[in-house]
Amino acid sequence: MADCIFCKIIAGEIPAAKLVETDKVVSFLDINPVNPGHALIVPRRHVSSFLDLQQNELHVMIFVARRVAAAVTEATGSPAFNILQNDGEAAGQIVDHCHMHVIPRAPEDGFSLGWRQLSYEEGELEALQVAIRRRL
Ligand code: 5GP
Ligand code: ZN
Repeated sequence: MADCIFCKIIAGEIPAAKLVETDKVVSFLDINPVNPGHALIVPRRHVSSFLDLQQNELHVMIFVARRVAAAVTEATGSPAFNILQNDGEAAGQIVDHCHMHVIPRAPEDGFSLGWRQLSYEEGELEALQVAIRRRL
């Protein structure tokens, strides 16, 4: 896609610190990391959403994410990591080319996902289970 920053990185039109390149997937360091070593994994094909990925692309995305997570944590000496994927503007997706984040983590590194924990009303959880299962 013409004005997509990640397509330009994949094509080598703008520079990036690339880590892995396969025929389906490219990984490179995020330019503004949550922590040093923060990496991105992107499909070569321009798609916006995780839901647009084909099965063979998905397989490679997940395997590359695991390889990159192992290498990044070892290289940075991090004891932990997050794998994240923001899908859609409301979920925090800024770059409209599907990507996964691998973020090395350390105790008290100053980053918080702000995870909240709501409760279900009576029957709500079961109703959602049925609604979701019907669509699988
Ligand atoms: P999102 O919020 O869409 O999930 O994350 C997009 C990520 O892409 C951000 O973490 C941002 O720092 C990174 N990013 C944006 N533009 C560039 C770029 O030109 N080069 C690299 N390496 N990373 C970028
Ligand atoms: Zn793109």
